[in-house]
Amino acid sequence: MSGKGLNGTPLTRDFANGGVSFWYRQIGLPARRDALPGARDYDVAIVGGGYTGMWTAYYLKKSQPDLRIAILEKEFAGFGASGRNGGWLSAEFAGSRERHARARGRQAMIDLQHAMFTSVDEVIEVTKAEGIDADIHKGGLIHVATNAAQNRRLHQELAELRTWGFAEEDMRLLTKEEQESRISVAGALSATYSPHCARIQPAKLAVGLARVVEGLGVDIFEGTTVSEIRPRGADGRATAVTDRGTVTAEYVIRATEGFTAGIRGQHRQWLPMNSSMIVTEPLGEEVWERIGWGGFELLGDEAHAYCYAQRTADGRIAIGGRGVPYRFGSRTDVRGATQPQTVAALHKILTTLFPATAGAKIQHSWCGVLGVPRDWCSTVHVDHRTGLGWAGGYVGSGVTTTNLAGRTLRDLVLRRETELTGLPWVGRQVRQWEPEPLRWIGVQMIYALFRAADRHENAQMGRTSAYARVANLISGR
Ligand SMILES: Cc1cc2nc3c(=O)[nH]c(=O)nc-3n(C[C@H](O)[C@H](O)[C@H](O)COP(=O)(O)OP(=O)(O)OC[C@H]3O[C@@H](n4cnc5c(N)ncnc54)[C@H](O)[C@@H]3O)c2cc1C
Repeated sequence: MSGKGLNGTPLTRDFANGGVSFWYRQIGLPARRDALPGARDYDVAIVGGGYTGMWTAYYLKKSQPDLRIAILEKEFAGFGASGRNGGWLSAEFAGSRERHARARGRQAMIDLQHAMFTSVDEVIEVTKAEGIDADIHKGGLIHVATNAAQNRRLHQELAELRTWGFAEEDMRLLTKEEQESRISVAGALSATYSPHCARIQPAKLAVGLARVVEGLGVDIFEGTTVSEIRPRGADGRATAVTDRGTVTAEYVIRATEGFTAGIRGQHRQWLPMNSSMIVTEPLGEEVWERIGWGGFELLGDEAHAYCYAQRTADGRIAIGGRGVPYRFGSRTDVRGATQPQTVAALHKILTTLFPATAGAKIQHSWCGVLGVPRDWCSTVHVDHRTGLGWAGGYVGSGVTTTNLAGRTLRDLVLRRETELTGLPWVGRQVRQWEPEPLRWIGVQMIYALFRAADRHENAQMGRTSAYARVANLISGR
């Protein structure tokens, strides 16, 4: 990346270093808040200032304004995946529907899916009500198949979704003409459309949420790293140990997603999986005329190492995919810097799907971490005995799920039995990941197999490649 900002201004050190994400390059990094000034006591202490932490603080404070709530954040609110994602505010939920249904029955999983549909609108309504302008546009979601195996999978998935509460109006096949008139994707064989998805500018949502929760009276301490979380002791208080002092609270909620392995005793909890993105320069009218995309739908493909894309409010394409999936020992990235080979791979996907972008410059690249539980299913939980709670393991579908998590954590902390606390992702216990080097070897194998499967399927195979079936078996998805 060049050493110049979008309008020719020199980049700050953060951006010159690869930096955090394009979304912050657009709006500037927020001014830092103060660190924790020393030992404190709160009703609720939330570890992590991403969407999960901030939605939880928001709904708790809205329900009970006298609650004393602190967010403890090691960098700045919105530093993690919440400020770096692809901006799909979608109703997709991580994890196997069958697994959730086994725990609480099929209807409970269908209820969870409907809760995801309404969560998309909830985020849109709250942002409107709170004056958060996050470039939100609810144009829906298009999944496109670009080879015969993907085409077959897309049809199978649609048939499967019909049995899980997806009516025709929730997802349907597009005719060739409809698909072409929405987005012209080279080599598209078929496509589905779901209205339950909106485009967002992720950092605008994160920065806006931080402003709103702070305005409600939540203390956000930045530059404050939590090293350990302890259950209630004899004094009945749970504890978050930080480098700036110890915070005691009635409840300590962990909302650290892909960074969770950095907290003592959590090393094998959620695997930090990497995802990378690139963004083009603003594209000219002639390019948009060839591509279309006037409805600002979100776009994904059906590859095993799938991609996700959006048309930004200022006329660029932002597109992401897996890149280097995992670093040995659950290490996370260095402030969002991504590797040249990942940028090249994403550029190839971009220009293959949209040949009209061949001449467009790539203006920024970055990566971030998502949290992957051993069974790939998100969970939310509060233990009233220990005073500890958490939400996460969203894999690649956390933008909307964090909102559902925030409202569910509110109900759990306030000991309310609601429709939300009866959903099947509440209170699930998931086994830990294997120790190293098994973890590293396993993830390398899974993604090598997925890439091999995609290559095979691109070479005209009509069925899902056996490589992908083996990868799914190893991954435990
Ligand atoms: C590149 C990328 C693209 C994605 N695209 C999409 C998408 O389009 N749609 C979608 O639904 N999902 C997407 N996701 C996933 C989604 O962004 C996340 O699931 C969601 O943002 C998780 O929010 P969170 O608050 O739980 O975690 P984060 O946003 O990661 O927040 C965790 C916070 O905890 C802080 N923290 C960590 N450790 C400590 C500690 N020890 N002490 C104090 N603070 C700590 C971190 O600094 C961070 O701010 C994407 C993720 C990535 C990385």
